Amino acid sequence: MAKCEFKSSIYNYQLETPEAILCYNTFTGSFVAIDKNQSAKLFNDIINEPNKLFDNNEYLTMRKQLIEQGFLIPNDIDERKLLELSLQTDRFTQKNFSLTIIPEQSCNFACPYCFQGEKAYKTMSLEIENKIIKYVQDNFYLDYITDLHVSWYGGEPLLNFASIERLAEKLIALCSKNNIKYNSGIVTNGYLLSKDVVKKLIKMGVSFIQVTLDGPQKVHDSRRFLVSGEGTFAAIVSNIVSFIDLLNKITLNIRINVDKTNYESIYELIDYLSDDTCLTNKVYLNFASVDNSNKTYDTNLCFKSQLFEEVNTNFIDYASKKGWDMERTRKPKLFPGVACTAEKFNSMVIGSDGSIYKCWNVIEHDDYLLGNISDESFSGILRINSKNCYMFSDCLKVEKCKNCTILPVCNGGGCPHLRTKYESESNLDDYICKGAYDQIRKYMLRTYKEFSDK
Ligand code: SF4
Ligand code: SF4
Ligand code: SF4
Repeated sequence: MAKCEFKSSIYNYQLETPEAILCYNTFTGSFVAIDKNQSAKLFNDIINEPNKLFDNNEYLTMRKQLIEQGFLIPNDIDERKLLELSLQTDRFTQKNFSLTIIPEQSCNFACPYCFQGEKAYKTMSLEIENKIIKYVQDNFYLDYITDLHVSWYGGEPLLNFASIERLAEKLIALCSKNNIKYNSGIVTNGYLLSKDVVKKLIKMGVSFIQVTLDGPQKVHDSRRFLVSGEGTFAAIVSNIVSFIDLLNKITLNIRINVDKTNYESIYELIDYLSDDTCLTNKVYLNFASVDNSNKTYDTNLCFKSQLFEEVNTNFIDYASKKGWDMERTRKPKLFPGVACTAEKFNSMVIGSDGSIYKCWNVIEHDDYLLGNISDESFSGILRINSKNCYMFSDCLKVEKCKNCTILPVCNGGGCPHLRTKYESESNLDDYICKGAYDQIRKYMLRTYKEFSDK
């Protein structure tokens, strides 16, 4: 048998502390800490010259471990091609279909940073609902699909709850007839999310809800108010607390939008949620940076990625100290496929007037329109081109990403909408890379500290 030659993985990311060399493989998620005094030379020799064999037990043991954990890989493996294969396989899989439906494009809130800007007052009609069902029946490869995931999105989707009920009933029936698994989630501002509504959503197959709180009451109410100007914090929190006993049937994520105007108040919100409600560890918290990708806000008020990573880590640490389990938000996510459904063949967003898009951030932007199911001339063929379809926005085609050590966990920043925008403006580094690298470094240092403290 031919002797197998090895090389160092291009996805080994190394960091040094005064005592140790830390190495994290962003493709496999393996992590190793090498004591500088005891084994640094050995480690560097093996990583730099993996095929030089020494008759030394310590050397052979470490080399074997580095091979098993993917830090050293067979010479003939092209890791970029392997990554490309997994991204392409996920991009074109026929098995899963993801449908984002916007039953209501208007909103009862008037958040100043709303990425949708001025909203047209569009409510989905019964006619469009029927066309969606017909479109799904006629154009989905129902024989191939095993799973249908529906996201209810807006504007504010609960303003047109009747549409959600009717569509969910018909889609569930269609799935059951074709032996397809159905599940769904909803992104709502939370104002109309009463316990009765949640019970009905659960019956309609909804297993995930996301609501947003932007700070303690005073701050939240100054950013997320009703169209009439009235605050919304009390109603949202009271809604969440009212269905606390249903949280074993449904996952609730509280998204906290952060920018330079509200970040200092977030600790007070965490205090409030921890001390004055019984929500700790019954719901998830995640902190998101407000962005101005649709030019509806002021860029100067938004964080660049490195600063956001810093405040995000502080919030996560603070929430952990208050008893929240934040581990899933700390660990870099390995992407076995693409990060967003907008990059997938079997996925689309349908607006309340029947317009079809790939990404929910571009609704009402004509440049990104793929067709409209209510048009007489609509044949089912989407007007796909390289701009309106994020399937072509491949992070492996971005020169900087192609050669990046942390590509498998960063995935070009995940969101193809932001990647495309920042790449074209030449500020990928400020808005994605610096923060992404900081996140990995913090994860490595933290993992090492936990390991050393044991
Ligand atoms: S709740 Fe959402 S959709 Fe409504 S105004 Fe605020 S950000 Fe926009
Ligand atoms: S966006 Fe930046 S950090 Fe992320 S993969 Fe691309 S080059 Fe790397
Ligand atoms: S491309 Fe970005 S903004 Fe659009 S749906 Fe995906 S993650 Fe969201």
